[in-house]
Amino acid sequence: MDMSLDLSPPVAEKQMNVAAPQEKWTTETLLSVHTWTDKLFSFTTTRSASFRFVPGQFARLGVIISETGEIVWRAYSMASANYEDHLEFFSIVVPDGAFTSRLARFAPDDTLLVEKVSYGFLTTDRFVGGRDLWLLSSGTGLAPFLSILHDPLVWNEYENIILVHSVREANELAYRKQIAEIPQHPLLCDGKARLHYIPVVTRESLPETLSTRITRLITEGTLEKKLDLPLNTEHSRLMVCGNPQMALDVREVLKQRGFQVGRRGIPGQMAFENYW
Ligand code: FAD
Repeated sequence: MDMSLDLSPPVAEKQMNVAAPQEKWTTETLLSVHTWTDKLFSFTTTRSASFRFVPGQFARLGVIISETGEIVWRAYSMASANYEDHLEFFSIVVPDGAFTSRLARFAPDDTLLVEKVSYGFLTTDRFVGGRDLWLLSSGTGLAPFLSILHDPLVWNEYENIILVHSVREANELAYRKQIAEIPQHPLLCDGKARLHYIPVVTRESLPETLSTRITRLITEGTLEKKLDLPLNTEHSRLMVCGNPQMALDVREVLKQRGFQVGRRGIPGQMAFENYW
């Protein structure tokens, strides 16, 4: 019998990227990259066992610039469910962007930093009551809603979940297949609640998609008529994410209809996240 002691860490510990306790972040490994278009991609990373988040929240990701050793940090919404053992993100490529131009060149086994704390208030726990959850997104603003849509609790709380994803061109309608699979997921849409997916393509006129901006779809009542669901403060809870101008315009329109953002213990009916 070999009595020599094996002092190397157990396999699970070796595979986990554990930061030194004094650091604010963990070092994670890129597991996969999926390219949607030349400007859009998704990637998955390892996840520290201690990293917690509420669906809808974002992480701060860091990339080390090899030439200077400087770290560039950016906010990124988690697109994955909070019970998965990896993290998934959905990213734009900004030409010459300090973060994304580097990230877009990453390949599996490269490392990036993830702050230990997750952030943000684009979470359904800020709402009270409501029957219909409206998730209005533009571009990569879809990401937090993918996480929310994979939260079984949300499917217990609402009768209808409406996902609007607005993009310029049809090939930017990422995650269509995954969204279409949600109603078959045993933990999610189990017959009580319904998912209504509304793709919007503003620069192409296609038979199966709407082509009008989200703000006008609300002001003209197009969404309400199409779904036969009224938008009102009693039944509707709205979350908006992506382009700041879109978010601002939608906020104005909803404010005029009596919707409010929650503050200081008073729950509202709408919540926003701007990406820049
Ligand atoms: P920056 O110097 O950061 O941006 C340059 C310009 O690019 C901006 O001024 C703006 O005009 C444009 N831009 C930035 N982000 C976007 C975008 N997402 N879509 C279209 N145009 C953009 N980005 C993601 O791709 N996915 C996310 O899940 C995501 N989550 C975010 C969550 C929060 C709370 C915030 C505040 C931002 C989020 N962003 C997200 C934006 C992200 O933090 C960076 O801005 C983006 O990765 C670009 O970084 P950059 O250094 O390459 O360019």
